[in-house]
Amino acid sequence: MSYPVVEVFRSIQGEGAHTGMGVVFVRLAHCNYSCKFCDTDYTAQGYWSVNEILEAVKSLSPKRGSWIVVTGGEPTIHRLTPLVDQLKARGYQLQIETNGSNVHELRLFDWVTCSPKKPMSLDEWDSDTAQEFKFLVGSDGLVLGECEVEGFIASCPLARCYLQPVWDMSTGAMEKGALGKIMEMIEREPGKWQLSVQMHKLLKLR
Ligand code: SF4
Repeated sequence: MSYPVVEVFRSIQGEGAHTGMGVVFVRLAHCNYSCKFCDTDYTAQGYWSVNEILEAVKSLSPKRGSWIVVTGGEPTIHRLTPLVDQLKARGYQLQIETNGSNVHELRLFDWVTCSPKKPMSLDEWDSDTAQEFKFLVGSDGLVLGECEVEGFIASCPLARCYLQPVWDMSTGAMEKGALGKIMEMIEREPGKWQLSVQMHKLLKLR
């Protein structure tokens, strides 16, 4: 089994509940969506076997128990079980970052971060499928419609819900006005939302 890989690298998790933790990212290539605000280059740099990925991860994070983040692109378009089994066998804790379009292998992970994008289907989601949701907010407000988001998070009462400004690739900064929109939403319902900024981008980390 081999995977199209963009990069395997060590950095700080810059988003969500694990912000500030040192992690290894395994970025897999390709995506099933084509969001106009996408800020990620998910072009494959080569096909790597499970063993080659394991070796790269081990060289960056030799300690059992450390966190590995499988991300993309959209990682769930690949069959993840062979890779996950080997990473787990070596004692790593696993986080996945997904757009939510495929739920089937998410239960393999210790921490699921879902950033729902159109046209994901909410129908297949159970309330405990993800530990956290990140909803993107641009200058016009939520990227997904507010009603849709409200209904969705009502069905996931235990998950953490973050609002995150869209990153504007043309300016290399948060989209203008997005932070203001988020602050309004947080003020309206203080217990409901938390702000997530892409700390790694603000600090110009990888
Ligand atoms: S789902 Fe994520 S990776 Fe895929 S196009 Fe949209 S923003 Fe980019």
